Amino acid sequence: MQTIKRGSKGEAVRKMQRLLIAAGYSLPKYGADGTFGAESESALREFQSDNGLSADGICGPKTWAALQAKGAGETIRRGSKGEAVREMQQLLIAAGYALPKYGADGSFGAESEEALRKFQEANGLAVDGICGPKTWAALQAGDEPGTEHFKLREFGCRDGSAVPREYWGNVRALMAELEKIRAVWGKPIIINSGYRTKTYNQQCGGAKASQHLTANAVDISVQGVAPSTVYNKLNAMYPDQGLGKYAGFTHLDLRGYRARW
Ligand SMILES: [Zn+2]
Repeated sequence: MQTIKRGSKGEAVRKMQRLLIAAGYSLPKYGADGTFGAESESALREFQSDNGLSADGICGPKTWAALQAKGAGETIRRGSKGEAVREMQQLLIAAGYALPKYGADGSFGAESEEALRKFQEANGLAVDGICGPKTWAALQAGDEPGTEHFKLREFGCRDGSAVPREYWGNVRALMAELEKIRAVWGKPIIINSGYRTKTYNQQCGGAKASQHLTANAVDISVQGVAPSTVYNKLNAMYPDQGLGKYAGFTHLDLRGYRARW
């Protein structure tokens, strides 16, 4: 894992935050938001000092190793309560195992157990309804969207922010369509813009209700293919979605009704 410190952003930060939470170092204000701020730094220093590491607030190789050992160490089961339970529930939900009645309430009840058992079964784990080291590892690693030719990080905001977990479903849907588009020409697709934070969207003059804000849109170009050719093809492929024609790229979004500009 890469070395991260205050100011770092992205999936590695989110992973460190999840491990801190699972190890019992709560992040009550921001949770695992993927941004390494004061709250994360203070929790990390505490973790380092409790584990005989130099408390420098920087997550380097030694701290990563300790976090991975401890963070996956808290085994939780029916009746458990607290931040680690909430984290497990959020990971279950993100992986597509809905908790419709109670959501991520931090209390490990029958609903959570049933969802966890389904997750374990689908992931080739022992189906015991107990979240131990192996199940934690599968939960933390197994749910990131990805296809043969597209990775989640390609959809990240240009300002360095990762796509928030709540929009990963949108990214999955876009990836499926992008694979179809890629197959038309058999050439790589370059994603010029995917998810945008509100701030970044304002800076680049995006529409106020832009589909990019929820990672439901991509601006793409296809290597070696004229943007007008791409637009014409997508115009035929997506009669009931959003399409924008630009000089250097084509905007596609999956809004679910026809829009053209
Ligand atoms: Zn766009």
